[in-house]
Amino acid sequence: MKNFKNIKDFLQHKINKTSEKKIPIIAAAVKNNKIITFSKNKKGWNNRLKHAEINVINKCLKKKVNFSDITIYVNLEPCMMCMGAIKNVGISKIYYYVENQKKGFITSNFTHDISKMDIKKSNDKKINNFFKEKLENYFKKIRG
Ligand SMILES: [Zn+2]
Repeated sequence: MKNFKNIKDFLQHKINKTSEKKIPIIAAAVKNNKIITFSKNKKGWNNRLKHAEINVINKCLKKKVNFSDITIYVNLEPCMMCMGAIKNVGISKIYYYVENQKKGFITSNFTHDISKMDIKKSNDKKINNFFKEKLENYFKKIRG
């Protein structure tokens, strides 16, 4: 990765080399202007969880990277899932190039259209309280 002038050139080169049958999305974890690791989207539509950002986060976890030092570079605006994962591991810096009008987290104004989903919450107080207590006890133990 040392042959590249900057991160933009690296990403451009990798996308240029991507076969036209594959999704041209790439993400990189960057620390102090150096690429720690990178990944493209994997598996196309067989597994919609293997987005470039998720793959990069998994690679960082294996390398025990400190996420507070990391900027995620991605050529397409992160989707809701990736934004959730990025936030959940503690990455606060994102640099992207292209807006994702349909599914971009920023462009879509931070909302999910759930109007066509069937979402139910249990009204069974007994079992709800059972689960609630188990969860509260667990988190009390680890968080004090
Ligand atoms: Zn995504």
